[in-house]
Amino acid sequence: MKDNFSTSRRKLLQYGAIAFGSTVVAKSFIDNSVLAESADDAPKATNEDITPDEALNMLMEGNKRFVTNKRKYPDQNFERIAEVAKEQFPFASILGCSDSRVPLEILFDQGFGDIFVVRNAGNIVTPEETGSLEFGSAVAGAKAILVIGHEKCGAVTAAVAGKPVPGSIGSILAAIQPAMKEGDKNDKNYLTETIKNNVFLQINNLKSSPVLAQLIKENKLKIFGGYYDLDTAQVQIIT
Ligand SMILES: [Zn+2]
Repeated sequence: MKDNFSTSRRKLLQYGAIAFGSTVVAKSFIDNSVLAESADDAPKATNEDITPDEALNMLMEGNKRFVTNKRKYPDQNFERIAEVAKEQFPFASILGCSDSRVPLEILFDQGFGDIFVVRNAGNIVTPEETGSLEFGSAVAGAKAILVIGHEKCGAVTAAVAGKPVPGSIGSILAAIQPAMKEGDKNDKNYLTETIKNNVFLQINNLKSSPVLAQLIKENKLKIFGGYYDLDTAQVQIIT
């Protein structure tokens, strides 16, 4: 860690002339760095030594900090930006919903270069999402993929309702509908169960990727599923 920190210091000197210009933007990052981290939390210059379980743990620790109002705002200073400008080393990928109430870097208390994020309405897996997450792990080296659904998801609600929708929204609902099981759609638990079943469904879709399957086989990747509670801001791991 010390070496990494020294390296990032050297990088900082290289970029210093630009980084510490007199603009208001640069100034605000310097101020934030005071809040952000001590030397012990020096930016991670590699993700190579992180295991899939450690990667999940780092996410969950971040969510715990957020929920308990103990955010560290890690990796949100200009030094970190300069470090990851050349290359990224995200420790995890997350596939989440576009819903404005589920901002992933915030609720997991992460910063620049930490998580490789894919979002769409309903956190569905189509070939584009698979390709993005293959890139996140096979190229950028993310050790875990977390597929996260959330309470009161509008996309899943619309899929359950099954009513006609305008434009291309129907393609999203079609990707979610296989997650619907037998049951009373008016039961208040049905929506929650379908949101969780949708996470399981999309994880299965991801696992059909030979690229991701190979990484899983080599113990370089694990895929997890989560559920985000809008009221408590807590993430629960469901698989
Ligand atoms: Zn949603």
